[in-house]
Order: sequence, then structure tokens, then C-alpha cells
Amino acid sequence: MNKKQQTRCFDVIVLGGGAAGMMCACTIKKKSVAVIDALTKPAKKIMVTGNGRCNLTNLNCDSEFYNQNIDKFLERFGERETLMLFAKLGLVTYVDDEGRVYPISNSAKSVVDVLEYGARNASFFLGEKIKDIQKDKESFLVSFGETTLRAKNLVVATGGNCSQILDMLGVKYKEFVPSLVSLQSKQTRDLNGVRISNVLVTVTNSSGEKKSERGEVLFRENGLSGIVVFNLSSIFARANDFSGNISIDLLPDMDRKAVERLVEQRKQLDTTVDKIFVGMFANAVSNEIFKQSKINTNKSCQRLQEKEISILADKIKMLEFEVEGHLGNNQVFSGGVPLENLDEKLMYKTIPNLFIVGEACDVDGVCGGFNLQWAWTSGHIVGEALC
Ligand SMILES: Cc1cc2nc3c(=O)[nH]c(=O)nc-3n(C[C@H](O)[C@H](O)[C@H](O)COP(=O)(O)OP(=O)(O)OC[C@H]3O[C@@H](n4cnc5c(N)ncnc54)[C@H](O)[C@@H]3O)c2cc1C
Repeated sequence: MNKKQQTRCFDVIVLGGGAAGMMCACTIKKKSVAVIDALTKPAKKIMVTGNGRCNLTNLNCDSEFYNQNIDKFLERFGERETLMLFAKLGLVTYVDDEGRVYPISNSAKSVVDVLEYGARNASFFLGEKIKDIQKDKESFLVSFGETTLRAKNLVVATGGNCSQILDMLGVKYKEFVPSLVSLQSKQTRDLNGVRISNVLVTVTNSSGEKKSERGEVLFRENGLSGIVVFNLSSIFARANDFSGNISIDLLPDMDRKAVERLVEQRKQLDTTVDKIFVGMFANAVSNEIFKQSKINTNKSCQRLQEKEISILADKIKMLEFEVEGHLGNNQVFSGGVPLENLDEKLMYKTIPNLFIVGEACDVDGVCGGFNLQWAWTSGHIVGEALC
């Protein structure tokens, strides 16, 4: 250790002052806590969540919205307990039609403010990049700048993609892969900016696994986006391969036969085939149907053949795009420390007094407040274990 290095002792060191780390620091009572973060303000990432409004949880929280069963943790500290705790800290919230909870101020800053208030007894070391982590018989030693902190307990709350920290500690983890992300496709250029609602989207990854969800899709110049696409992107992340296929059923409330009948009826329109879907789909969507159908659209509707009507119906039920990657700006990472390697208190089984919380665990959920809920759940469970 460098001569100038100063050592300070705490009961608990929390690595990362994000959602999970701050919840942990808020929960620990009667113990000295140090929170270290590379950023200059605590919980900075929360500021961008929910488009700046912070969708902090969801009243329908359940394991079905996560990559695995986390019931035993949600039963101990789920959305109700979270909201009670936030209310105690002074946060006033409201719930939307889909159970998503937001601060009444519609500002993520309110969530950050009450977390800072809750963690007011902790010592913060901000803007600090961790150089080294050591463990001796009794404690962990965490070094940054000219400071070393020593504590019996260490909480890793450094979020997704924290392989460097986990490697320093010799902790085993599944590779971190971007998830909840827009999907890349070369075929969407002509649809750029188009939004289609109430469609059924099905993705298939390279291993043939499928997942479907209904809702809205937003086309971008180089791919597809929107909450449904984000949620479905997780099956590519789990396979660690962003290649496959995305297909869109434009009329999910009609079966294939009914769609064919509908196209058949539109043969009566006194126009050319390229106008057959006017009043039904946006022009760019109709053009994509024609492009994928490869039929001649310059002739009159009356001249459409049975086979062509069948192809058009197929495309309305299954407009297809090849997925060739993702577009970055992911909301979470899949991967992290498997829950099997952690005990009931989220302590790493083979390294006593080392706890893992938040996105550093191999837990990820869909959009809607579920990821922050895991941060609150895991942060609180560890905070209680350390009280
Ligand atoms: C744009 C966007 C919008 C989102 N919206 C929502 C939403 O509305 N609802 C929802 O539920 N989820 C949302 N999420 C996901 C949610 O933000 C995360 O799941 C959650 O923040 C994870 O909490 P965490 O504490 O594990 O990690 P983080 O919040 O990422 O915190 C980790 C902290 O550790 C620090 N850190 C990392 N490495 C080091 C290091 N080496 N040394 C020191 N410090 C380090 C980081 O600076 C950071 O402050 C969104 C994510 C994004 C990107």
C-alpha cells in the first residue's frame, strides 16, 4: 500500500450508489456505511428512467415479468413494501392504467431526493474509480485515489456490466449482454418514423425460440423499437446472439381466413392494387406488404388473382423482418451473478459477508417498473441483513 494512502473503517461498504445501493444504504440502521460511486452524484441513472419520470415499480409485480422465479424475494419486500417505504421517506406517487407507479411530480428527481434523504447517515465517496479490492481474514479493503476503505461487509451494487468488479472479487457470473434494446434490421428504412399500434409481434432467435407480445411498434431507419420490441429483445440477449426474425401480425383480432375474405372484398374497390389498403394501413405499411408480397400493384384490384389475395393475407398476418443485431442504448443487461450462488440474504455463498444486489445479479425484467423493483427488493433485503 502506498505511504500516503489513508485508511478509513466502516461496518459496510456499498460499491455503487445507484438504485439498489441507495436502497441498501437507506435500510441499514445503526451501522456505519460508506457508498462509493464513479459518478459525481448518487443515483444519477435514476434521472433518465421512465423518460425522466421514473417508473419506480408496478402494482402487478410478479415473477412472470422476470427471467426467473424471484417470488421468495418479492414476498419479503415487494411493490407494496417498497411504496410504503418510499411514502415514509416523503415520496407521493400515482399509478397509471397498467399498474405502473410514478412520482406525483412526474420527475425522477423526486425519487433521487428521497433516496438521498433516506441515506443521509451514510458517507459518500463520489467521482471515485475503484482501483483495487482485497480481502483479508476480517474485512474487505477497497482502494481508490489515495484512500482505502476497510469494512467487514461489502455490497456490490455496481449495476449491469460490472464484470471488472466481479473479476476483482473472484465472483462467478454469466456474461452481461444488452437487453431491453431496439432491434436492428436493414429492411426498415422506408418505414422510418411509422408507428403501428395493437399489433402482435413475434420474435424468433437463432435457436428457434419464440416469444410474442401485443402492443405498439415504432420503425426506425435501421430497425424496430418500442416497449414491445424492448421486451422481446430479451430472448436474443439470453441466447447471446442478436440474429433471427421478427414478424408482425397487423390484424391480430382476425384469423387468417377472415383476413383473406377482407382482402377479397376490397377487390371491388375501383382503383389499382397499390391503393387497395387505403383507409386500412398507413401508406408505408401497405408498401411494405406489397414489397414482401412481390405482386404487381399497377393493375386494377378486380384483376387480383386468388393466389395473390392469399399472399397478401399471409403478409398482413406475418410481415417479416430479419434481425441483424441491436441498436444500443439498452435499458438493462441480462447476465450477472446467478441466484443459485447467493443465499437467502443475497450473500455470495463462498465468500462470507459479500453481498450482490440489483442488476449485478442475474435478474432482469421487462419494461414497466420491474427492473427498479428488483433493485429496491434486493437492496432492501441486504440492508435488513446488515441491520
Ligand atoms: C434509459 C433507461 C430507462 C430506464 N427506465 C426504467 C424504468 O422506468 N423503470 C425501471 O424499473 N427500470 C428502468 N430502467 C432500468 C433501471 O434503471 C435499472 O434496472 C436499475 O437502475 C438498476 O439498478 P442498480 O442499482 O443495480 O444499477 P445502477 O442504477 O446502474 O447503479 C449502479 C451504480 O454503480 C456505479 N458503478 C458502476 N461501476 C462502478 C465502479 N467500478 N466504481 C464505482 N461505481 C461504479 C454506477 O455509477 C451507478 O451509479 C431504465 C434504464 C435505462 C438505461
